[in-house]
Amino acid sequence: MKNSIKVKIFPKFTKGYKEGYPLILKERMEKWPKELQEADVFELTDANGHFVARGYHGEQNKGDGWLFTWDKKEQLDENLLTRLITEAIQKRQFLFADDSTTAFRIFNGEGDGFGGFTADYYDGFLVIQWYSVGVYSFQKMIIDIFLSFPEINGIYEKRRFQEDTKEDFVAGQKATFPLIIKENGINYATYLDDGWMTGIFLDQRDVRRRISEDYSVSKNVLNTFSYTGAFSVAALFGGASKTTSVDVAGRSLSKTKEQMEVNGLDPSGQSIIVEDVFHYFKYAVRKQLTFDLVVVDPPSFARTKKVTFRAAKDYPALLREIIDITAPNGTIIASTNYAGFGMKAFKKMVAEAFETTDRTYKIVESHSLPADFTVNKNFPEGNYLKVLFLTLDI
Ligand code: SAH
Repeated sequence: MKNSIKVKIFPKFTKGYKEGYPLILKERMEKWPKELQEADVFELTDANGHFVARGYHGEQNKGDGWLFTWDKKEQLDENLLTRLITEAIQKRQFLFADDSTTAFRIFNGEGDGFGGFTADYYDGFLVIQWYSVGVYSFQKMIIDIFLSFPEINGIYEKRRFQEDTKEDFVAGQKATFPLIIKENGINYATYLDDGWMTGIFLDQRDVRRRISEDYSVSKNVLNTFSYTGAFSVAALFGGASKTTSVDVAGRSLSKTKEQMEVNGLDPSGQSIIVEDVFHYFKYAVRKQLTFDLVVVDPPSFARTKKVTFRAAKDYPALLREIIDITAPNGTIIASTNYAGFGMKAFKKMVAEAFETTDRTYKIVESHSLPADFTVNKNFPEGNYLKVLFLTLDI
């Protein structure tokens, strides 16, 4: 790890970096030093060579590294990381204190002052996601800091910079799976050592809560791209009369049953369908099925044998299919985690979807990331989640 390298920012980007923009982008620098290796720490300077901030090099999909201090005296060391992690954990005390919720994010990369990794808490165990080779070289230091907290018994990791993530267990005690976590009093079965996903997307906590609280009583609910059926379970807790969960992945059948069973709900009364949702829409139209509440939370990109879906381009078309099977005065919960467009563009896509139908709608609620997924105010694009609750007028 070299420490003396200086990198000069192009004048037009200096102001942004001085004000706290945390992402290092090569193309914003006058010259990117060839000798710079992953994990090297360097100084960004203005055109006159004056210190602006200090960062580390770690290439990931978003950029080329992250700034971690605007204080010339501060270095990347155990003191800095201990301070940031301690502050992050303190900020989540309201969640640690809430017995009805035992899984949440405790470190959100640049939102908590250090980009390149995130850490999610699952009732005593952590899942750390590392996004670059560079950040992974600080792995030992970071896991030791986390393990020094009595709340954390063991650590799993996902190396997002690698193709596969075979060995996920890192340190401390191992959990037994399924690890049952609670969210607003509802149980969810999680597996921290089984591929990229754990069984629940923690960033949708507020949306699941709102579904249970206010949108489910006596409703016939369709959950598309349902994964383990977490939205269906939330709807059943909220009093839904029936749920239908549709996902193309074979695992979704057993996983959705399991999420119901760990809550004492009988899956046999529910429909869990393993099928491409685009096929299912055709079937539903043919059978004249309609639903009072439809949840749609697709991946940003998905390819099945017949259909390629890209949120950036295909979301309006997807919504049109949903509108066709939504009951009069029904509700659609439209969600996307695609970071490439913001809420404004998403609202436009919704408007575009309705343009070619004879239905009209109101946006009754909108959500972005929950409080534990802290967003850096100088990096608003980190707030990737967009969820709109739409009630149809007819
Ligand atoms: N909404 C879910 C998470 C969705 S993850 C939740 O909050 O828990 C994306 C899911 O979409 C995956 O389970 C994947 O199998 C599914 N998927 C991708 N393309 C699909 C398609 N064409 N039809 C049905 N499911 C699809």
